[in-house]
Amino acid sequence: MTLPALRDVIAASRRLHGHIVRTPLMPSASLSARSGAEILLKLETRQTTGSFKLRGATNTLLLSGRHAKGVVAASTGNHARALAYAAREMSKPCVVCMSSLVPENKVVAVRALGADVRIVGRSQDDAQDEVDRLVISEGLLPVPPFDDERVIAGQGTIALEILEDRPDVDTLLVPLSGGGLAGGIAMAARSIKPSIRVVGISMEKGAAMASSLRAGHPVAVTEEPGLADSLGGGIGIPNRYTFDLCRTYLDDVILLTEDEIARGIRHAYMEEQEIVEGAGAVGLAALLCSRLNVSGTVAVIISGKNIDMIRHRQLVSEYRNV
Ligand SMILES: *Cc1c(COP(=O)(O)O)cnc(C)c1O
Repeated sequence: MTLPALRDVIAASRRLHGHIVRTPLMPSASLSARSGAEILLKLETRQTTGSFKLRGATNTLLLSGRHAKGVVAASTGNHARALAYAAREMSKPCVVCMSSLVPENKVVAVRALGADVRIVGRSQDDAQDEVDRLVISEGLLPVPPFDDERVIAGQGTIALEILEDRPDVDTLLVPLSGGGLAGGIAMAARSIKPSIRVVGISMEKGAAMASSLRAGHPVAVTEEPGLADSLGGGIGIPNRYTFDLCRTYLDDVILLTEDEIARGIRHAYMEEQEIVEGAGAVGLAALLCSRLNVSGTVAVIISGKNIDMIRHRQLVSEYRNV
């Protein structure tokens, strides 16, 4: 099994042209003033379906979907939204299996995109078992949320866009869960610019990739609901690609508390006028809480915006002076 490489990301970038939004890389005046580095925000909140996951899902469908009867995935929400959208664009049926921990707003959104949502079990692994069953019984094409070479190449296109816009970027801050996003971005960025530093950022709760990197092999962790619900779930055992990519290409991994993540969400809203979900706000949170030293030019991947708006309103109304 060969790991996805830069050429796969370049091919994905050409393939995705016209199917996804090329998102803006916007300077943050407030974070730049505060940190002393030049901080740029890569706004995947502006991606169709509200997260970067459309890149990997669309790349997979364009590569392998033509002759499939339909597609199926287990997902904590954003991958499901992306896959449902991509499948509808190609007039393919889409089945999504979710655990009961997934917030209701995400279930409703995926059903609204025309997918058949099935709620099974209490973990990503239970949902995955149902996917495996449907692949065999209904002949659907499985599209994994992260551990797939086509998905990883799709997510990696974010690195190409950033380095095209700003070749002088020194550091990338990337949300990290299963590692499709961080693995793809880190591999592509380091292949183009070996001196670039790539830092993965997760929540302390159930940090599967961080625990696996520490152990030296993929390990299972207990899932816990948290503010960054898109960062929940394991990395899969066996893991085929993302563990090796993260081990090879990530310089560091930072874990954040719930309070720190909340601060990132509030900052996004009050200072950047952006609605950002917990997972999307971890890079902002790491900077605000001085969890790493930065200098030069830093690009922060703001990975998604799909937060329950009632929860968002509560969080931002707790705002004092962060
Ligand atoms: C899926 C997701 C992540 C994490 O991506 P992985 O490839 O699983 O590491 C981060 N942020 C958002 C908004 C997501 O939907």
